[in-house]
Amino acid sequence: MNFASDNVTGACPEVLQALLAANEGSAMPYGNDPLTEAVEGRLVALFGCDLKAFPVATGTAANALALACLAPPYGAIYCHAEAHINVDECGAPELMTGGAKLVPLAGEAGKLTPETLAAAIHGAGVVHHNQPAAVSLTNETEAGTLYRPEELAALSAVAREHGLKVHLDGARFANAVAALGCSPADLTWRAGVDVLSFGATKNGCLAAEAVVFFDKAAAEAFPYYRKRAGHLFSKMRMISAQLGGYFEDEIWLRNARHANAMARRLAEGLAALPGCSLLHPCEANEVFVAVPAPAIERLREAGFGFYEWAPGQLRLVCAWNTEEADVARFLETAAAALERGDSAAR
Ligand SMILES: *Cc1c(COP(=O)(O)O)cnc(C)c1O
Repeated sequence: MNFASDNVTGACPEVLQALLAANEGSAMPYGNDPLTEAVEGRLVALFGCDLKAFPVATGTAANALALACLAPPYGAIYCHAEAHINVDECGAPELMTGGAKLVPLAGEAGKLTPETLAAAIHGAGVVHHNQPAAVSLTNETEAGTLYRPEELAALSAVAREHGLKVHLDGARFANAVAALGCSPADLTWRAGVDVLSFGATKNGCLAAEAVVFFDKAAAEAFPYYRKRAGHLFSKMRMISAQLGGYFEDEIWLRNARHANAMARRLAEGLAALPGCSLLHPCEANEVFVAVPAPAIERLREAGFGFYEWAPGQLRLVCAWNTEEADVARFLETAAAALERGDSAAR
C-alpha cells in the first residue's frame, strides 16, 4: 500500500460515473457547456456568496494563474518557505505573474503568523523594491496542520492593512473543511480570502481543480492568462464533469473525512510505538513522523510506499480510499520491527 501521497490513487466511482455521463452526446467546447456553467452554481451554493469559478486541471496551474491575477510582474508574494508555490512548482508562479517575487517566510509547522507576515512586508512606494501585492497561504498546510478561521482572519487583516490580496492554496481544502467541521465560507471569504485554489484531484478526481474568486474584480484577466497557459481545455466539460460528481451529495466531504480518519489512526498508532514521535500534530490527512531507521527499512521491505522527507522522518498521506486493513498492517509491521529490537542496532 502506498502512503506516499493522496495522488497515488485513482478517482472515486462517483467522479468516474459523472465522466461517463458527460461523455454522452455533444456539448460546446472551451467551457461554453452546461456542466461548466453548473460548476459555478454549485460553488455559489457551497460558499454562500457570489463568486467566479474556473476549472483547471492541475494545482500548479490553479495557483500560478490565480497569483497572476493578484500580483503585477514587479510585485512581492509572501508565502511560507515550504509552500508548494515556492518549492514544488518549478517557478510557475514567477512565470505566470511575469516575474513577481516570492518572499519565503519561516513558520512553525507549516504556518505563518501575523507577526511574521507584518514584519516581512516592506518597500511599498520604494522604486527599488518589489511592491507588496499578495500573501499566499496553504490549508491544509504542507506540514499537515490546519489554520483555523480566526488564524486566517488575523493573517488577512495584516494583508488588508498593507493592501495585499489573499490567496489560499487549497490542494487539500476538503481535508481542512472536514477536519475543522466549519463551513467552507468560514475558511475562505469570511476570513478574508480573495482567491482559492480548490483542489479536487487528490481527494477523488482524475485531474480537476477550481480557481474560485471571491473578489470577482480580480478575476477579470483570468480567462486570458488561462488560455495563454494552455489551460483552456477544448473539452472543458470533462474537467467540469469531475467537479460535478465530486460536489454532488457531499462526496468531497465524505472522501476527505475518510482520509482524515485513516491518518488519525495511523498517527495515533505510530505515536504509541517506542522510538516514534510525531513531528507535527496530525490535523487532517497527513502524518509527519520520526521512525527509527531499521523500522523504516522493514516497512520498505514489506512493500509500503512513502516519502522519507529527511533521514528518519516520514511523510505518510492517506487518501479517500485508504483501507483500514492497510493502516493496521503498516502499524503492525512497524511495531514488530521496533519490538523485536531492530532499533537496538541504532
Ligand atoms: C499537490 C499540491 C498542489 C498541486 O499540485 P499539482 O501537481 O500541480 O496538481 C498544490 N499545492 C499543494 C500544497 C499540493 O500539495
